[in-house]
Amino acid sequence: MIRVAHVLPRPVAAQLYCVAATAVLAVIGLALAAVSYTTHSTYTVTALRDDGITAAGLAADVELLLERHRRMIASAPSRYDRLEMRTSARNAEDVARHIEDLVAQAKDPFMGGVAASLPVLVGHARRALFLRATATQNEADTALQDYIRVANRMQDQIHLHRSERIDVAKAGVDQLVQRGETVAGWILVLAIAAVVLLGPMSAWIIRGIVGRLTAITDTMRRLANTDTAVAVPSIADADEIGDMARAVQVFKSNALALQANQKEIEKLNGWFDIALNNMARGLSMFDSEQHLIVCNRTYRELYNLPAEIAKPGTSLAQIAGYWAERNPGAAAAALPAWCLAEGAALSSSGFAHTETHSLGDGRVINVSYQALDGGGWVDLHEDVTEKRRAEWRISQLAHFDPLTGIANRHYFLECLDRALKRAAAGEETFAVLWLDLDRFKEVNDTLGHPAGDVLLKLVSERLTSAVRSGDQVARLGGDEFAILQWGAAVGETEALALAARVCDVLSAPFSIAGQTVSIGVSIGVALAPAHGDTADGLIRNADIALYQAKSAGRGTTIVFCHEFEHRISARRRLQTDLKTAAELGQMEMHYQPIVGLRHQGVLGCEALMRWRHAERGMVSPAEFIPLAEETGLIGDLGRFALRQACRDAVSWPVTMKVAVNLSAAQFVALDLVETVRNALLDAGLPATRLELEVTETLLLQDNARTTGILHELRGMGVSIALDDFGTGYASLSYLRSFPFDKIKIDQTFVRDLPDRPDCVAIVKAVCGLAATLGMTTVAEGVETAAHLARVKEAGCDEAQGYLFCRPVPADEVASFLAQRVPMGATAG
Ligand code: C2E
Ligand code: CA
Ligand code: CA
Repeated sequence: MIRVAHVLPRPVAAQLYCVAATAVLAVIGLALAAVSYTTHSTYTVTALRDDGITAAGLAADVELLLERHRRMIASAPSRYDRLEMRTSARNAEDVARHIEDLVAQAKDPFMGGVAASLPVLVGHARRALFLRATATQNEADTALQDYIRVANRMQDQIHLHRSERIDVAKAGVDQLVQRGETVAGWILVLAIAAVVLLGPMSAWIIRGIVGRLTAITDTMRRLANTDTAVAVPSIADADEIGDMARAVQVFKSNALALQANQKEIEKLNGWFDIALNNMARGLSMFDSEQHLIVCNRTYRELYNLPAEIAKPGTSLAQIAGYWAERNPGAAAAALPAWCLAEGAALSSSGFAHTETHSLGDGRVINVSYQALDGGGWVDLHEDVTEKRRAEWRISQLAHFDPLTGIANRHYFLECLDRALKRAAAGEETFAVLWLDLDRFKEVNDTLGHPAGDVLLKLVSERLTSAVRSGDQVARLGGDEFAILQWGAAVGETEALALAARVCDVLSAPFSIAGQTVSIGVSIGVALAPAHGDTADGLIRNADIALYQAKSAGRGTTIVFCHEFEHRISARRRLQTDLKTAAELGQMEMHYQPIVGLRHQGVLGCEALMRWRHAERGMVSPAEFIPLAEETGLIGDLGRFALRQACRDAVSWPVTMKVAVNLSAAQFVALDLVETVRNALLDAGLPATRLELEVTETLLLQDNARTTGILHELRGMGVSIALDDFGTGYASLSYLRSFPFDKIKIDQTFVRDLPDRPDCVAIVKAVCGLAATLGMTTVAEGVETAAHLARVKEAGCDEAQGYLFCRPVPADEVASFLAQRVPMGATAG
């Protein structure tokens, strides 16, 4: 989510403050004008009232009284009516006092003259009244004249005073009017100023602010209605509305992000749904009230729950009840019990764990519970019925050989460990017998794998019956077996006795599929603790002993002795040396001629590898070739042999072939055909001049692939010879598996030819067979003229042996050829 920063300054606020200030100033001005006008008016009106109207009124009252006083005095009765006169005098006195009161009340300095004249007036009045009563009319009139003079003067004074007061009042009224006009003027000016200033300002603000605010409000409304396509106006403005617009823009961005999130969440929810319903395990989630929050399809299917029971809000008790109702029986009813118990326990404890339960229908369910924060839990239900069965089967497989039912290598090693512990505790000694069946491969190959399997089962039975109870027989794999012989004092004698027994029982013929089969066994023995105190050590030594036994010939038992280790280490040293032999140029190719027995002379040479060891001198290929095969070095050596032989052969007469031996191990690598082709190309030798010699052992391995390669090589023009014919188990059957060009009859037959007629018969038969199959025959190991005579007699086509030539280095081939040009003739 994006946030918006607060931006200063604030021009819109400043504008509004200006308008407000202007309005306030206008109001203050108007108020001041009104106050000043009111104050003045009050003052003026008070003055008007006090100094004008009231004073004028007082003056009028005084004037009226004075007038009454004057009439009283003037109309006073004569001396004849004394009583009336006295009443008039008294009334005049009252009026005079009244005037005096009013004048005093007026407190007006202007009335001062009136006040000062009043006693004089009263005096004149009294004299006039007195003279009227006492004196003559003339005197009375004179006195009255005095009185009237004073009264007139007073009247004038009052008049003057009254007109003064009226002037004052007029002046006040004038002033009031003038001030009113001034104030009205000011108010007009202020109002105009306010209208002039506030009007456009407000209009400008209304247009500039309200319009933009409305646009933004509209945008907000549309955004609120998820119309995120709307563009936010006023975004570039530098005032508060710009701020607001930018805030709205942020709101919009957030709304967009929210929308995107919403879509993402919807997508995730979809995925979650798919994932949930495609989970291999059943899942259910309950809240703290034990009500279902969610469950998946597997869960529903696991417990056969219909949709209305498996909907959110259903209580666990309902689900369990439903299950119990439809699955009566104690075991089945277990579900509600454990479900509810777990639910209660989980709700309170909040721990997680896994349990396995058996349903009444034979299924086994594994349930993992995980408490949820704030109560409730999630559980995963897995139908582990098959898994349990598989585990059981696996544990069987882990310990027992599935074919024979006896212990397997793994279990044997466990037993060995136990035996070692007991031996270490001095309780027992024991022997390990390592067994390898002789001729098993041949049985397997000739009678087929099912027969081989039957043989292995029978061997296991015989072995089990040959040992004492407590001894452990195991199949280690293939045709290898082992026996762990226990006892209080098992030593070499006891072990050899058991080995002899085993040899006996296994050399008795077996009857398999109506055929009688004979095998044997080679046994290596290691004794504990004399030959090792670890399982590895004992096994290694038993294996070394077995290796020695096999090398010594079939049916042999050999007890391990430390001398074997030296042999083994010498072999290892040789192996190590072999690794660098080719690089050091210690390998050479020697050649032994093959001679045609029908006057053809030297037809070719067999390439035989030689190792010129720095310390040991010449090492026989019979010794190092098997080593190279074991270590995988045969690949490199084989390539060298092919390349070198082809190169050397190029210089020979074009009629001569070169025969190169191929090891079965070379066929395992994928590049044999390529290697041959490269050797030919590299040397420039035509393929027809190359012959490859293979042995029967090659045909024991993956036949289809092997013959495929052989066909491919033949397709190139290379000829293929079957070497050492007659040394294998069922040679004749191999002749069918591939149309060889040549059969090389093993020297063991040739050697015995002069003395054993049966050998002559065999060789003859082979030559006849080969001729029928279109194959050439070669007799190997022809050392004497007698050998030569016999092989010729038997019908062999070619011969090879010391009689003609021993294997010689490449550079001697030419001199041999030179001497032996008429060889064919000699041989003939
Ligand atoms: P092989 O292929 O049967 O070779 C013939 C063996 O008989 C050679 O032994 C040869 O020297 C020997 N020999 C030849 N004529 C006579 C004879 O008149 N009397 C006797 N007693 N022996 C004779 P070598 O050279 O010691 O080779 C032994 C074996 O080593 C070969 O048997 C072959 O299987 C293997 N070998 C030799 N060179 C190579 C090679 O380059 N590659 C492979 N894979 N194996 C090779
Ligand atoms: Ca050979
Ligand atoms: Ca041979």
